[in-house]
Amino acid sequence: ASRGVQGLKAYDPGHDLVAFRRKYGTENLVELGSNENPYGPSPAARAAIVAQLDSLHRYPDPLGADLKRALAAKHGVETNRILLGNGSHELLMLLAQVFAGPGDDVVFSRYGFAVFALATQAAGASRIVVDALPDDHPVMPLGHDLDAIATAITPATKLVYLANPNNPTGTWFGREAFAAFMAKVPSDVIVVMDEAYAEMADADADAATALPFLSSHPNLLLTRTFSKAYGLAGLRVGYLIGAPGLVAVMERLRESFNVNGPALAACEAALGDVAHLDSGCERNSAQRIELARALERRDLRTYPSQTNFLLVRFGPQTAQVEAALTARGVVLRPMGGYGLPECLRITVGNPDENRRLLAALDDVLETLR
Ligand code: PMP
Repeated sequence: ASRGVQGLKAYDPGHDLVAFRRKYGTENLVELGSNENPYGPSPAARAAIVAQLDSLHRYPDPLGADLKRALAAKHGVETNRILLGNGSHELLMLLAQVFAGPGDDVVFSRYGFAVFALATQAAGASRIVVDALPDDHPVMPLGHDLDAIATAITPATKLVYLANPNNPTGTWFGREAFAAFMAKVPSDVIVVMDEAYAEMADADADAATALPFLSSHPNLLLTRTFSKAYGLAGLRVGYLIGAPGLVAVMERLRESFNVNGPALAACEAALGDVAHLDSGCERNSAQRIELARALERRDLRTYPSQTNFLLVRFGPQTAQVEAALTARGVVLRPMGGYGLPECLRITVGNPDENRRLLAALDDVLETLR
């Protein structure tokens, strides 16, 4: 294997969920490990897939033109600014592959999304990991330190990855801070804003999106996904928006049919059902606030979040708590791989899942006491 690949570990989904489902049965599992949407997709997306079933022998539209048009209309941009991907994961990987290589630097925050490190290493570029805001930061503990990230940029830097809001911390930064950051970034450095959770951020939370900055900053690209707020993780569709020139370069290297036909149709239909999107996001916000309060009542520290998950500090007993919850069929995400071994990441479920989580947790905390 090449030098970059030799040092790589495969993406760690946390648990072997297929084995768990076999062991417990899906109805007995509380799956809160992968930040999926418990409310599922719009019924229009399901119907669009069914309508595709007679066309499975055909290749999909290699350009994904209809979905691109719908996305362009939604975001008020030209279609040549949009690139579709097999999940935003594929696009994040492709970005490093296209724009960075051996001898180049890629900059990101210490608790930035795991794929940033993976993509950088696969491309053979050097990782510049910038310390996050401190754990005792009064506003955004463990969040991106945008000043430090800007300072870490060197003449060798080709790419900066940001996530807003970020996974696994849930933290975010505002529009003014982002504007100040962009003003400091040299125009030949590409800034990637991973906005996988953007739709879930409350309007009054001021989680910056890169959208309004695109026209004035041709070095800025953003990625979004249908996996989270749209509830379509199983279909694997993400998209990127940026300068037409950069999008065209990426188009050269992507697989010709990277988004399948049923997925294209379902995502287009999902975009049309704004009411479903909005109601899912509202339910998530309400449940997130309620779950955070419930965890804090149990003396567990939760980090600020504008997503559908909470980073929660369990302390020295984290591994035991996690094992005991898993034995009760409650699947959370361990954070050792992120260098946060005393934390677990909990996806905000629907009210029933959150109740079952808390009941199992009370049981576990009681037995460990
Ligand atoms: N970015 C972030 C911040 C994420 O949390 C995830 C999913 N966990 C992704 C990107 C990738 O999502 P997908 O490939 O399903 O679009």
